[in-house]
Amino acid sequence: MYQAPRGTSDILPEDQPYWQFIRNKASEVATLFGYQRIDTPIFEDASLFVRGVGEGTDIVDKEMYVFKDQGGENLSLRPEATAAMCRAYLEHGMQNLPQPVKLFTVGPFFRYDRPQAGRYRQFHQFNCEALGEADPLLDAEAIEVAWRFYESLGLRDLSLQINSIGCPACRPAHRAQLMKYYEALLEEVCRECRGRFVRNPLRLLDCKEENCQRLATAAPRTADHLCEECRDHFVRLQAYLTAAGIPFNVNNRLVRGLDYYTKTVFEIQPAIEGAQASLGGGGRYDGLIEGLGGKSTPGIGFAAGLERVVINLKRQGIKPDSPAKPRVFVAYLGAAAREAAWKVVSELRQSAIASAIGFGGRSLKSQLRQANTLGVAYVVIIGDSEVERGEANVRDMASATQMVVPLAGLCQALAATG
Ligand code: AMP
Repeated sequence: MYQAPRGTSDILPEDQPYWQFIRNKASEVATLFGYQRIDTPIFEDASLFVRGVGEGTDIVDKEMYVFKDQGGENLSLRPEATAAMCRAYLEHGMQNLPQPVKLFTVGPFFRYDRPQAGRYRQFHQFNCEALGEADPLLDAEAIEVAWRFYESLGLRDLSLQINSIGCPACRPAHRAQLMKYYEALLEEVCRECRGRFVRNPLRLLDCKEENCQRLATAAPRTADHLCEECRDHFVRLQAYLTAAGIPFNVNNRLVRGLDYYTKTVFEIQPAIEGAQASLGGGGRYDGLIEGLGGKSTPGIGFAAGLERVVINLKRQGIKPDSPAKPRVFVAYLGAAAREAAWKVVSELRQSAIASAIGFGGRSLKSQLRQANTLGVAYVVIIGDSEVERGEANVRDMASATQMVVPLAGLCQALAATG
């Protein structure tokens, strides 16, 4: 028997209300803050991500789904949204629009990750990106979108962690200090971190291994090495967040996994800790668009992982409304009655009354059982003798009463009950 590929899953009908709820809130909140929807392709030129996300990152080195199509193009399923959104910004000349250009999207992403709870190979994100403006007020606004999104879903006990990882002007000094600090500790850090030391020493700071975390507490902090511009940016961001009533912790060890971040980075975490703690996060990427061949253009954005939102909604007992059930079941007995019932159900649906009809010539008893399982409010019962009289029986399931209604006025009578 076939199964869904490892790390992917079917979103079954019973879970769809969660997804509908989350997508609606994402769209509502993004729109409230002036973000406009964009949808980019599921696959892109692989080199877009190699240049955008950066060689040496886990995403590019280990996690991309790269393939050659029949025409020999080297493509990749998208592992993240930001590089693709920046590509679209450049391709459609959005730098000529009033800045910032604020875009959002919701959709699937793909990473060849080790599947475990909260970590999949196909997962979904809500992404917001604001391009073309360097003001820290925009950082505060982007963070507020993320915060209000989780708040609008009713999630409680979340914490917002922020940090500044500086810019190309101040990062080299911090990096040198960091390498000096860790050089003497290479025997003590985990194997992964020994690799990070060579590839990207900043990432040693957010290793989840207990011993590495202990060593990171005493490591040189980016916050102590910021240039004046970065320091001022970070101070102003904190003031704006405070003014908007958004609680945050400055977390000096927060660095995040993607290469393109500059200055602000942030993450939102649920109270229950775990390896997959991060619900979502993002940051500023002032060098990314230039790195993709555009003229220097600042940007900030975030991604919220939606599977983790579903997990946390369930954990916190938050149940979205279920979609409307059918209100009417049309049961029948006999060939002439089936024809009449088919006309009735068609008319009901054209009047936007969700309804169901029995199939397969089942007994009346079996049809009534089915109506009960569906939880309908009314059952219309038609037999051949009712057809002859031009009538139907309508059973009100709540009061268990039944009355006779002319077939011609049935739809109108049922519409009047809703
Ligand atoms: P990133 O794009 O790595 O910054 O991740 C942003 C958010 O996407 C994370 O906080 C997670 O909620 C979610 N996410 C990232 N990778 C995965 C994955 N493999 N499976 C499920 N969710 C993920």
